[in-house]
Amino acid sequence: MAPSLDISGDFPILARQVNGHPLTYLDSAATTQKPRVVIDAIRHYYERCNANVHRAAHALAEEATAAMEDARAKVAALIGAGDAQELIFTRGTTEGINLVAACLTGRFGPGDEVLITEMEHHSNIVPWQLLCQRTGAALTACRVTPTGEIDLEDFHAKLGPRTKLLAIGHVSNALGTVNPVAEMIDAAHRQGALVLIDGAQAVQHLDVDVGRLGCDFYAFSAHKLFGPTGIGALYGKAALLEELPPYQGGGEMIEHVSIEHTTYNQLPYKFEAGTPNIAGAIGFGAAVDYLGGLPLHALREREASLVNQAISHLKQIPGVQMVGEFRERVSVVSFLVDGGHPHDFGTLLDQQGIAVRTGHHCAMPLMERLGIPGTIRASFALYNSATDVERLVAGVEKAIEFV
Ligand code: PMP
Repeated sequence: MAPSLDISGDFPILARQVNGHPLTYLDSAATTQKPRVVIDAIRHYYERCNANVHRAAHALAEEATAAMEDARAKVAALIGAGDAQELIFTRGTTEGINLVAACLTGRFGPGDEVLITEMEHHSNIVPWQLLCQRTGAALTACRVTPTGEIDLEDFHAKLGPRTKLLAIGHVSNALGTVNPVAEMIDAAHRQGALVLIDGAQAVQHLDVDVGRLGCDFYAFSAHKLFGPTGIGALYGKAALLEELPPYQGGGEMIEHVSIEHTTYNQLPYKFEAGTPNIAGAIGFGAAVDYLGGLPLHALREREASLVNQAISHLKQIPGVQMVGEFRERVSVVSFLVDGGHPHDFGTLLDQQGIAVRTGHHCAMPLMERLGIPGTIRASFALYNSATDVERLVAGVEKAIEFV
């Protein structure tokens, strides 16, 4: 028998009502809901084996350490990292990118460039601005086309011998564009640049293999992948991580400390100062296990078809304009409606129990390039159904009557 594609029952929150209506959750690009197994794993840790990890000789600490390191191995395997020592636990994508920006500081100076795109999330823009302010390097952004894709001609024109780092999103959170990262990584490496990929929106929807991509760093967040908030991961090539200075100083990241001098711990602990988010890491591992038990291929196909259905139905509503028209898209449907601000539509949909996000989606330069104040964004995940599409379309039609 074919496995059921309705997994919504695994997510307790999806059974609740909002404003007197069944919840239609279409904000998974902001954060995904959590399956019961993830919630249970976190509860189990606190109820059964809460202890600080590493450096302790008692049973609870050993259990907690084993559970956390097991989670690290699972997360590393999920993205094809060759070795769990290349997988640093962070607070999320934002911290992963800031970590790289902080640790690369010594490699930059006047005349060097960081290349990004106009499509980036603010967390893949501002850390590079700060790096440039510290070092005198320059930040350059390659253009986005009016249809919402990276302008590859402009990318190749801007990539050059001064480019020391290329930092790009794998998937746009605002539009859902899947960027041609493999081609861009190869081109950047030919110029001798390092490459960081912001994978926040990619890991749930694509099979990511950092080994095959060949990127130097890959940052992502557990909460966009059915895991808890406050935990994420940064992949980095071991040889490179070995060369970099530590990020923060404190316990755990050291091998030996004297007042005059400190030697650092081995990877990945050199980059994990202080008590880590142990419960979060364990919840992250449980989310990876959960994903591994799903008929992922079939679920992703269904999700893609829901996204296409939503686009084709919304397009037929007079006054609705889709934002972004491109070859490869996942999860996100961004649109505008004539005669009303996106925020008004967000409120009118919320009154019908439909959760979408409105505004600039932390991508102000992209909105500026597209000449719009923001969008209404419906973002899908593996637990959404055709009913969610029907409710969204009916909800937009009803909202239009009010404005
Ligand atoms: N990059 C992208 C593309 C994102 O969508 C997000 C989250 N919206 C981030 C980075 C930042 O992720 P976090 O807030 O989990 O650190």
